[in-house]
Amino acid sequence: MSLIVQKYGGSSVADAESIKRVAKRIVETRKAGNEVVVVVSAMGDTTDELVDLANQVTPLASGRELDMLLTAGERISMALLAMAIKSLGQEARSYTGSQAGLITDARHGSARIVDVSPTRVRAALDAGAIAIVAGFQGFNRGTGDITTLGRGGSDTTAVALAAALKADVCEIYTDVDGVFTADPRVVPTARKIDRITSEEMLELAAAGAKILYIRAVEYARRHGVTLHVRSSFNNNEGTLVVNPTDGESVEEPIISGVAADLSEAKITIVGVPDVPGKAAQIFTIVASTDANIDMIVQNVSTAATGLTDISFTLPKSDGGTVLKALEDNKAEAGFDSLQYDDQIGKLALVGAGMRTNAGVSAKLFTALFEAGINIEMISTSEIRISVVTRADTINEAVRVVHKAFDLDGDEVAQVHGGTGR
Ligand code: ADP
Ligand code: ASP
Ligand code: MG
Repeated sequence: MSLIVQKYGGSSVADAESIKRVAKRIVETRKAGNEVVVVVSAMGDTTDELVDLANQVTPLASGRELDMLLTAGERISMALLAMAIKSLGQEARSYTGSQAGLITDARHGSARIVDVSPTRVRAALDAGAIAIVAGFQGFNRGTGDITTLGRGGSDTTAVALAAALKADVCEIYTDVDGVFTADPRVVPTARKIDRITSEEMLELAAAGAKILYIRAVEYARRHGVTLHVRSSFNNNEGTLVVNPTDGESVEEPIISGVAADLSEAKITIVGVPDVPGKAAQIFTIVASTDANIDMIVQNVSTAATGLTDISFTLPKSDGGTVLKALEDNKAEAGFDSLQYDDQIGKLALVGAGMRTNAGVSAKLFTALFEAGINIEMISTSEIRISVVTRADTINEAVRVVHKAFDLDGDEVAQVHGGTGR
């Protein structure tokens, strides 16, 4: 008997009909002789709608209350799914994150899992029932409060349960057939990837391919969980995210995919004295805000002024806090002024074979040049090249780069549901 963890994203349970369809699928898996644990997201765009609602009441809601609000979304879908399964004659029990033993730190809105003790889930399985767990949420023992794991965090719930229960596989059901060489909503000719290493998947997720949540990929890699990303709308094989063990060689494509991210902004610090210690001072101020900064570019200073500019990218949601911290320390840091630009897009090209292949950046820059797209910042890692462009050119940038690297598949990719929000 296999133990299978199945995670269904919001677009797979968007309405009552979808919930009944998913329930059938789950019952079939159980009837085939497997133990089944299901992790479910909030219905459709519920979480976004709850965030909008909170913002209408106050833009300054506390993390604790926001988490109380947002976890309600998953609570609705878990109960409805359990009801749908029972109506098909199969025993099912739903659990909140805390009932399922998902213990986290106290960081509201982006809590990290510190312990998983799914005793009640195990007991439900032992009693022959299907266990349904609300995604994206946990419980902090110190504060006694409910937490959420960050947007997209139901993926992490599924992986954490798969690891703790020693599941044979963790299936991530969504509205596309797997991981593609680019977002199929942007590039309809994108090709489905059959197998991808967790290293490449991590880079794609970090670069904005929201098909999998980055922390879930990290967790799966650390605990050796095999992920199977697939569609809940058909029975096609999806994408396996594999963890090649040391010594095992896998075929590494030069390029595995292109990702885009519109959630970042750029801060430019103008007129920074070009003397040792300035970058240290400035980024110590930035670090005090806990913001996750990404690309950093420092210009060459002009000899006449001895001043330089430093730009960096960061999540838009951290923009206000970081600007304020810098402004508050302006005199001490000795720069002239700050510029804030939230109309940027970041494109990343990822591929493990890139590290042994020259000319990848040249080809990328040429493709963007030929499309008349200006590059504002560049950064590279061993298996990734990222560039910043204007936000309104990012989709075109993804398409031309995808084409330049011959990533197209033979058929048009299917998007089965969801609003892409
Ligand atoms: P779910 O509600 O199932 O969690 P998400 O909306 O979080 O689904 O993720 C699925 C979406 O991710 C797809 O509909 C697609 O638009 C988007 N996506 C972005 N990049 C990729 C990619 N490289 N491959 C597949 N889907 C991608
Ligand atoms: N419902 C949550 C969100 O929309 C968690 C998830 O779907 O993974 O972010
Ligand atoms: Mg998701």
